Amino acid sequence: MSKITLSQGAGGEKMQELIRNFVLKELEHDYGEVPLSALDDAAIVDGIAFTTDTYTVKPLFFPGGNIGSLAVAGTVNDVSVMGAYPVALSCGMIIEEGFPESDLRTILASANLTARKADVKIVTGDTKVVEKGAADGLFVNTSGIGKRSPHLDGNIDRIRTSRRYPWNWPNDSGLSDGDVLIVSGPIGNHGVALLSAREGYGFETTIRTDAAPLNGLIESALKIGGITAMKDPTRGGLANLLNEWSEKSNIGLTVKEEDLPIDSGVLSACEMLGIDPLEIGNEGKVVFAVVPEASKDVLDAVKASPEGRHAMIIGEASSDIDGVVLETYTGGKRIVESPIGDPVPRIC
Ligand code: MG
Repeated sequence: MSKITLSQGAGGEKMQELIRNFVLKELEHDYGEVPLSALDDAAIVDGIAFTTDTYTVKPLFFPGGNIGSLAVAGTVNDVSVMGAYPVALSCGMIIEEGFPESDLRTILASANLTARKADVKIVTGDTKVVEKGAADGLFVNTSGIGKRSPHLDGNIDRIRTSRRYPWNWPNDSGLSDGDVLIVSGPIGNHGVALLSAREGYGFETTIRTDAAPLNGLIESALKIGGITAMKDPTRGGLANLLNEWSEKSNIGLTVKEEDLPIDSGVLSACEMLGIDPLEIGNEGKVVFAVVPEASKDVLDAVKASPEGRHAMIIGEASSDIDGVVLETYTGGKRIVESPIGDPVPRIC
């Protein structure tokens, strides 16, 4: 009898397979402007962005955050990368019998503080308590709805001055030849911070999670215009994001290693653990694809946001190549594959 494996939940190829073989087989999935079958960050239905995420992060507390701040930031970001602004969130909790009340209070206070930073409210929710052993402390589900950003029409107009753009919303299929790739800051921090706090790893580092709501940063970029796609590099990291874009947009992507912002603490932790910083999850970063003539202005706008100070142009889309290619420091080229499963399971 075939059974579900942990690697199918980690955001790489295996998870895509799980979704295709079960979710898309058993559920009707073509409803909406951006339907379930698009497997994008959020669906668009009747002009509303709608997304949901379940958080099983382990441990629940880690340097710079906890499951509450993470859940709110993650859901706000999945609404925002569709070109929508978050209107309201839900929060459902599955609590294991014996869970400390003080921890629950701390986690909810963090969720509330993060929601306040994002200028959004948690308006509905649910609590369930299950017997000891039936859950790992606490699982949280957050859903979010968002309305179309007032800057989205102007954003798309700026794309259309140079080319046809057949979509009404930026999405994973939106990239074309020449689009410039911008990442809003250093990658890998969330995964490394989490591992440093995890039993069995436990190493010293000053790296903290990057988990943060990015709706403000994204609005300021949309105001400039010319953004063809946006996405947060969560599970499976930048490697997974770039491969999803390349596949869905049917375009090659090149990235320069020397332009990738990675903190030295992340690099050394990755070397020690033998994992690729491109494959670790982030919870407070966004990657933009931008028409070339707007890329400098978008970069400047992103850098003016507190969460985007270290933003960089990292590469471009090119119809001359297939898949995702990394130009290394030494001038070599290597294919960046989509990770099979995230090297760090249960990071969110
Ligand atoms: Mg996402």
